[in-house]
Amino acid sequence: MGTKTWNQQVVKKNNKALVFQMIIEKEPISRADIAQISGLNKTTVSTFVTELIEEDLIFESGPGVSSGGRRPVILHFNKNAGFAIGIDIGVNYVLSVLTDLKGNILIEKNQPLTRTTYATVMGIVQDMIQSLMDEMPKSRYGIVGIGVGVPGIVNNEGTILLAPNLGWSNIQFKEDLEKLYEVPVIIENEANAGAVGEQQFGAGQDNENILYISAGIGIGVGIIVNKELYKGINGFSGEMGHMIIDMNGKRCNCGSRGCWEAYASEQALLEMADENIDSLETLIQLAENNDKKAKSLFEDIGNYLGFGMNNIINTFNPDQVIIGNRLALAKKWLEAPIRNTIETHTLAFHQNDLQLNFSKLGKYSTSLGVSAFVVDNFIKG
Ligand SMILES: [Zn+2]
Repeated sequence: MGTKTWNQQVVKKNNKALVFQMIIEKEPISRADIAQISGLNKTTVSTFVTELIEEDLIFESGPGVSSGGRRPVILHFNKNAGFAIGIDIGVNYVLSVLTDLKGNILIEKNQPLTRTTYATVMGIVQDMIQSLMDEMPKSRYGIVGIGVGVPGIVNNEGTILLAPNLGWSNIQFKEDLEKLYEVPVIIENEANAGAVGEQQFGAGQDNENILYISAGIGIGVGIIVNKELYKGINGFSGEMGHMIIDMNGKRCNCGSRGCWEAYASEQALLEMADENIDSLETLIQLAENNDKKAKSLFEDIGNYLGFGMNNIINTFNPDQVIIGNRLALAKKWLEAPIRNTIETHTLAFHQNDLQLNFSKLGKYSTSLGVSAFVVDNFIKG
């Protein structure tokens, strides 16, 4: 008897979640259409709908287009029932966004980073969260969670085990933020988050097997297989920035030598540039002004990006590769050498059905990705 009751509760919870999910994905939609598509009976659907309306998660507008007979009342997802905070911690910036439950950005905060100690970054993050909370509209649920993307190795429990380019190890970011704000906190590798951001809202919406290359100060790769983020057993997948492309090569921040990111990242670009050039933006400006040295630097970086991409395309046979993060700003200069390197090196079989794109969300891929994780967590309750 006890088991049966428990099972009934699980079934009820799952069916209600199914109805909710259907409204989110297919809105505007009527009760009758939900019953028809889900196979649940109309009374059950109506019960869940009433509950969801009382919870302010959906609302009615009415009447919709009739297919004969009484015109149905139409249901909508209440995307303003609460808000999510998505934070992208780069090596040289912090970007925070406040989104509604459909991933629309309402407010954003940006700050360049010159020091990356945990205390400094934590201070900036807290200031940003506070001002987003002060400025957000009123809603039933307020902040439903905080997501943070970091350039490092994050385990399934949300501990940042190692972020070499920030100089962090064993950081309990999730615990620290949850203590302060008492909302669910999700910490994710920035490339994983960026892959999901592009898949849900950006360049990857029509693709199933995606490699998202996050090319910033370091390089990480988010891997989407059959529409699902592939995380590996502990969440450490995608550390391809540290695949070795020259066994006696340049030192890398990870302690090894010859890693891909030592040659193809924003940091590599800045190391190769003249000493007085301090930013990617300056180099882009120089290239725009037809500076030969700057253009040839981008060509080198593009070639190196292409070599690494060759290795992972040959491994995964993806249907799409998306280049994102800071180096995507230099698309105009990087795209030709990347394409050329792949065309001349990668096995031809892979190339027929391969799409190569730059990120569509620009600097927002990671922050929107972590915000999507937060919303998903809230919706699945
Ligand atoms: Zn390395």
